[in-house]
Amino acid sequence: MEPIDILIAGSGIACTTTVIALFRKLIHSPAQQTISISIIEKHHEFWTGIPYGNRSSVNALTITSIADFFTDEKERELFFEWFKLNQQELLTGYLVNGGLTASEWLQRNKIAIDNEDWKSVYLPRFMFGRYLNEILKGLLKIVEDRKLVKLTLINAEVINAAPVNDQYEITLEYQDKTQSKLVVRKLVIATGSAPVINITVDDNVTLINNLYEPTVNDNITKLKTALASVTNAANRNVLLVGSNASSIEFLYLLAGLPHITGLINKLVVVSKSGLLPYHILDKELAHYPTESLDQLKENGGYDIKTLVAAAMQDINEAVKDGVIIPHIDRIISYTFELMAPLGEEARKKFIGIYGMQLSNLFRRSGADYKGGEAVLHQTQKLTLLKGAFVNVESGFLNYTDPPTGEQNKYDTPFKVVINCTGANDLDKSSSRLIYSLVHNGIAKVNLSGKGFYVNENFEAAPNLYIMGPLLGGNMNSRIHFWHLENASRLIYLAPFLAGCLLQDFF
Ligand SMILES: Cc1cc2nc3c(=O)[nH]c(=O)nc-3n(C[C@H](O)[C@H](O)[C@H](O)COP(=O)(O)OP(=O)(O)OC[C@H]3O[C@@H](n4cnc5c(N)ncnc54)[C@H](O)[C@@H]3O)c2cc1C
Repeated sequence: MEPIDILIAGSGIACTTTVIALFRKLIHSPAQQTISISIIEKHHEFWTGIPYGNRSSVNALTITSIADFFTDEKERELFFEWFKLNQQELLTGYLVNGGLTASEWLQRNKIAIDNEDWKSVYLPRFMFGRYLNEILKGLLKIVEDRKLVKLTLINAEVINAAPVNDQYEITLEYQDKTQSKLVVRKLVIATGSAPVINITVDDNVTLINNLYEPTVNDNITKLKTALASVTNAANRNVLLVGSNASSIEFLYLLAGLPHITGLINKLVVVSKSGLLPYHILDKELAHYPTESLDQLKENGGYDIKTLVAAAMQDINEAVKDGVIIPHIDRIISYTFELMAPLGEEARKKFIGIYGMQLSNLFRRSGADYKGGEAVLHQTQKLTLLKGAFVNVESGFLNYTDPPTGEQNKYDTPFKVVINCTGANDLDKSSSRLIYSLVHNGIAKVNLSGKGFYVNENFEAAPNLYIMGPLLGGNMNSRIHFWHLENASRLIYLAPFLAGCLLQDFF
């Protein structure tokens, strides 16, 4: 059988933006031959990934304002052109499907939308998913009509990739557990962030180990059923492990579901910081204080560790009342300025290790999500607990106190545990594909532990390309980000990857 020219594992926006860029390049090229492209997706829905399709709630909003969702001016303009054209239908449909949360969201955001004040609007994410789908389908028709592409979509999980000469033999597993193999010339791994660290609990506790699997709505139903089955209302306690973007998103969704929050007795969020993401403050200041970095510069004689410590102090000061993005930008760019004399190795360590630690200090959220958190605080059911999760035994949470490391037991037993922890290290990944790439020595894990080393052509090995969050922690002339959990960066990188993938075809 002829090998497939390009195969992409995973069909989230890392894949979709790449395919759009591939099609755009092909349409404007002198290409005559047909390129075969296969997309393999383990979920039944293609092109939207976890955040922008049915696995998320229709009420889930963009993490950043919709203006900041795009860094590329052209891409931003194209989106708003489409949005304005479809606004009426999108908003009407949203009100039908989104219930109370949608109507309240529209009430809060109507004036900003009418005024096109996009810096203050956090749009329901499905709208971006719909946009990408329409762009893709329009381009697909052109490339298929001109016989430039033969596209095949396969609903299966890629579980292994083995190099054979300069190609890859990949193994697919279908829902009925049968398997098959394909040979591909160029393989792109676009499987999203590595799976979260698994949590296990006793049989009498309901565990939601992945909020988006199979879908958030299914998990909300699971939560409701579990709570309703507990006869003593005082025992209807829910533990959320981790306080990242998905935790605050879940709290926002719950705030719009009073029939479920009404069932909950206590909702505890345990995390190392004991804090949920901060408010984003849409303002600029005349001066952005950076006292610790100033002091460090004046004293001189610093190394990467003391530089990072000073940047952390300045960030902690800066976020006391909420996150002012230009202030954070100033601290980060100043940190890079001061890093320059420390050389290439220090920069690599920063991108691989410390950048993510700094980012964790200014995790942020828009006003809608913070409003959801406030609603839950008003019910007096929400507790933010500072502690590192250890386990849940007989329904009781064991956690360590972050500064002392002392282990404690939380005094309330839990009936439901929801895992909102971050991605696990790749060498321990529960993804069979990632595990096999690492342990068969095919791709090397970078300093971050959560991403693969790649060259400036996105290659972890010859003809093995990485796209999406698994690129985080790399530093080369093109890819230099400590995290790529970020749509605007993926939109930015996609045309470069498309260029690399097409290189050998013309
Ligand atoms: C809930 C959520 C909300 C987010 N919101 C925002 C936001 O508002 N703004 C922003 O900039 N970023 C956001 N992000 C960050 C996000 O990581 C990126 O925006 C982007 O969605 C990443 O796209 P992706 O295609 O790499 O990953 P994903 O969306 O995770 O898609 C990967 C796809 O690969 C499939 N897959 C995984 N393994 C396999 C396999 N072995 N075989 C076949 N298929 C496989 C998965 O089913 C999935 O569909 C959010 C992330 C999440 C999880």
